[in-house]
Order: sequence, then C-alpha cells, then structure tokens
Amino acid sequence: MQAPLQQLQHPLLQKHELTLWVKREDLLHPHISGNKWRKLKYNLQEAKAQGKKTIVTFGGAYSNHIAATAAAGAEFGFKTIGVIRGEEHLPLNPTLQFATEQGMELHYISRELYRTKAEPAFLAELEEKFNDPYLVPEGGTNLLAVKGCTEIVDDISIDFDVICCASGTGGTIAGLIAGLKGQKQVLGFPALKGGDFLKEEIEQLVYNYSGQHYSNWQLITDYHFGGYAKVKPELLEFIHQFQEQHNIPLEPIYTGKLFFGLFDLISKGYFTRGTRIIAVHTGGLQGNAGFKERLGIDV
Ligand SMILES: *Cc1c(COP(=O)(O)O)cnc(C)c1O
Repeated sequence: MQAPLQQLQHPLLQKHELTLWVKREDLLHPHISGNKWRKLKYNLQEAKAQGKKTIVTFGGAYSNHIAATAAAGAEFGFKTIGVIRGEEHLPLNPTLQFATEQGMELHYISRELYRTKAEPAFLAELEEKFNDPYLVPEGGTNLLAVKGCTEIVDDISIDFDVICCASGTGGTIAGLIAGLKGQKQVLGFPALKGGDFLKEEIEQLVYNYSGQHYSNWQLITDYHFGGYAKVKPELLEFIHQFQEQHNIPLEPIYTGKLFFGLFDLISKGYFTRGTRIIAVHTGGLQGNAGFKERLGIDV
C-alpha cells in the first residue's frame, strides 16, 4: 500500500518560495482511511497475537474511526462492536450504515456513560459483556497507534523541513514526533477548541512511547472554526476551491481546517523562504456523506 507525495502548485507558494507536498494517506486504503489505518495496524496484530476474536471500540455517530474499525474487522476476520455515543437514530446515518454493512454490531450508550468510557469499571463491564474482547480506545489512540503513525515519517523518501497534520486525540502527531526523534519541525492543527489540554496528552503519548521529551513541535490552535465538527461558510468555500485547484478532496472536520490554516499561515509569511513543507492528508472523507445528509451541504 502506498501513500504518495503530491506536490502542490499555488501562487502563494511561489510568492513565498515554499515547497509543499501532500502526503496522501487518504489513498492508503479505500475504507480504512489514512491515519486510522496506521493506528489500527499494530492493534490488529496485537489482537491476533492475544487470540482475540472481537474488537470493541468507541466513537460518535459520524466517527471515521468507527467506520475504519468496522472495515478492518471485516477484512482481517474480527467481530467488531462499536460503542456509540448517544441514542440510536433510524434510518442509520451513512457512517453507521456502512459500519453495520461491514458486520459491526452497534451498542448505544448515553452521553453521560460515554464520558466514563476510559474508566476501569466501565471497561471491565464491557469485557464481561462482550466475552473478553480486544479494546481499542476512542479515535484508536494508544501506544500501538503511536507506533503505527511513526511509519508515516518512515514512508517519506524526500528531505523536508516541516511536517503538519490535523489533530483530534493527538495520536497521529505523537507518532510523527516520535518517528522524527527530534529532527525537523512538527505542526499540529487541532480540530477542537482547547489545544493546551491536547498538548499535555501528546507529550504523555510521546514520552510513554519513546521515553523522550521533544521540543521540535507546536500546536497551531487558531483554526478550529468554533470547535469540533463546527462548519463555517469560508471553510466550505476553501474546501471547494482546494478540490478544484489541486484535485484533492478534503472534509470540514480535520483536513479542511489543516489546509485552511496552513495556507493562512503561508499568506502571513509564517515560514521562511525555502522551507519545504509536508502536509499529511489523514483521510476521513467518509464523513462527507453524513454532512451532506445532515446539513444539506455539498462538501
Ligand atoms: C481521526 C482523524 C484525525 C485525528 O487524528 P488523532 O490521531 O486523533 O489526532 C485527523 N484527521 C482525520 C481525517 C481523522 O479521521
């Protein structure tokens, strides 16, 4: 499987003498998209090594991770159970419809209970209920996920100065930081408000994985557009233009914000001349069908 580097041409890049490639992780797999494939890879191996038959994981009703885990279960022979935040709504939205078509069993829990999803008592209950499954946390983020994401940088064969990605739980950027071992610069663009909380989480993940603290990274917290899954017309406009100019599809939750923010920084002269930038396209395009259905917006 390959995630090629696609170089972008844009007047702003020319003006500021920058080079920008998109690492097309969205092309890794048709259904186990982008960083979710990287994050699941070693978890699937571990589940198999432990002789587990069932994978239980967690997510919201439009979660890319739920869709990816369902597809991975179907492809690699695991039963999958998705613990979904909130009530069941029928007909199922495109994400959950897809997940059930892949054989995932959906188990809805209240928002209150969902908040306890990482607590030992709740996890013990799930282990009992689902007959000793392999548990994957929300968003797929754990140390095996970080390990998988270090391979994003191993997979880059050109020299560069800065690598950027969108951040949710921080597992992906933790992998980039650990994989680069203090070299180059890493920029994360959080999709949620409250980037400072995320900074600690990332630091912990990197340290727990590698035993190192690195300082060659930073969160750019100005481009969350009001918070997780909040959309603004200018963001949708940007996504349409980007698709037209570069023939690369984005979505408004993660990658749209990343590229909007990156081009805004570029236009403000953030990067010094000659900087070679790689932006990781983490996939997640399955979510666009849900946006279209819910808001009547064509993404
Ligand atoms: C899940 C996801 C992210 C966030 O990754 P984290 O490892 O949770 O930070 C970014 N982009 C897309 C497209 C995703 O689906």
